[in-house]
Amino acid sequence: MPEFQRPRGTRDFGPEEMAKRRYVEAKMRETAMLFGFGEVMTPTFESTDLFVARSGEGIIDELYAFEDKGKRGISLRPELTASVMRFYVNDMQNLPKPVKIFYFGNCFRYERPQAGRYREFFQFGAELIGAPSIESDAEIIALALATMKNLGLADVVVRIGHLGVLNRYIRELGISESAEKEARRLIDKRDFDNLRQVLGEAAANGEATARLIELVNLGETEAKDRARAEAKSDESFGYLANLLDRLKAYGFDNCQLDFGVARGLDYYTGMVFEIDAPSLGAEKQICGGGAYTLADLFGGQEVNSTGYAFGFDRVMLALENSGVGVPSQNIEVYILPIGEKAQITAIGILRELRNAGISADMDLMGRNMSKAMKYANSIGARKVIIIGEKELAESSVTVRDMKSGEQSQVPISDILRAFTRVDA
Ligand code: AMP
Repeated sequence: MPEFQRPRGTRDFGPEEMAKRRYVEAKMRETAMLFGFGEVMTPTFESTDLFVARSGEGIIDELYAFEDKGKRGISLRPELTASVMRFYVNDMQNLPKPVKIFYFGNCFRYERPQAGRYREFFQFGAELIGAPSIESDAEIIALALATMKNLGLADVVVRIGHLGVLNRYIRELGISESAEKEARRLIDKRDFDNLRQVLGEAAANGEATARLIELVNLGETEAKDRARAEAKSDESFGYLANLLDRLKAYGFDNCQLDFGVARGLDYYTGMVFEIDAPSLGAEKQICGGGAYTLADLFGGQEVNSTGYAFGFDRVMLALENSGVGVPSQNIEVYILPIGEKAQITAIGILRELRNAGISADMDLMGRNMSKAMKYANSIGARKVIIIGEKELAESSVTVRDMKSGEQSQVPISDILRAFTRVDA
């Protein structure tokens, strides 16, 4: 038994997994930049007060919180929106609007690890600050959906809600503010049994309870019908109908409305949305976002902002479950020199190939032919260059195509041409 184990809820990522993760990260970054968003990076830890200001004292239980040597209250970030908005208030308030930023980073939450839930995980998110809300909301959801599209992940469900709608129905219950909060939390979890119980205990209006439960259970078509039918009489329904039209113009006409999306955090104000990958089972939510106010809470000027965060690890799992091919690390050429003299020639060829941008590796272990072929297969090499005594004498090499098994003799002086020709 090794003496040291990884901390609970953390993971190590090997080269193959990392190649896949970097590929997906690059696609996400590329899409965000295509939409005119620029990347930011903030510290991995912040003062604990920042997260408490955002989410309340209750958040401390979920944080990796500690006192540093200067007795400051510090926490590893549980998400990045708070840090990004702190950064915005500190340094970006005077920039021309809108401010469009994205980030990728690790987050830490002290929760019970399970499939798709870790103590260290990664989020890729975007925030759009300072534009009118409907324009921002449409652009942000469109970016999230374009990201999924560019990754080839089609098996996702987008559910959009509005806290204006939900809160209007909740207010009709006539219950205390804390009971309202609890109701929102239970609706978000779709825990209707406990919701009924809590509303009963809070002596909520029975008819209003029935109306609320009907609202959050509306099916896909009924929810859209309700929003369109009441668009004129209710501002929030009208907003959602308008948002759906805009998303259609962006090329996304498969968004659902779900008035039960509550996001569970008080700083969300209007539109809220979630993206699920049904193949993931219980932890199927791969993205959460919405319109929020945080800048003023952090001492800045009030400003419209909308954002989202993808749970990067869950996106990776969803891609795997959906059988979407993600390229992993592949080496183009593996060189097998036989004998010491051949090693020097091999290094020359290795250098030439690498300089030309062709990934190349060579045997460092003195393997024999059959072991070297096995190894070349295991690293996914497409071609093997064999340099033995016979080849050296003829100033040539043997090139073996690992897929077809075909072998050919190539003069050393022609090596680069042979490779660029094969791959062109
Ligand atoms: P939140 O900041 O809670 O809205 O989370 C945004 C996204 O991050 C969620 O939709 C999940 O996909 C992902 N996420 C949240 N917590 C975890 C966790 N403990 N492990 C892995 N992914 C998570």
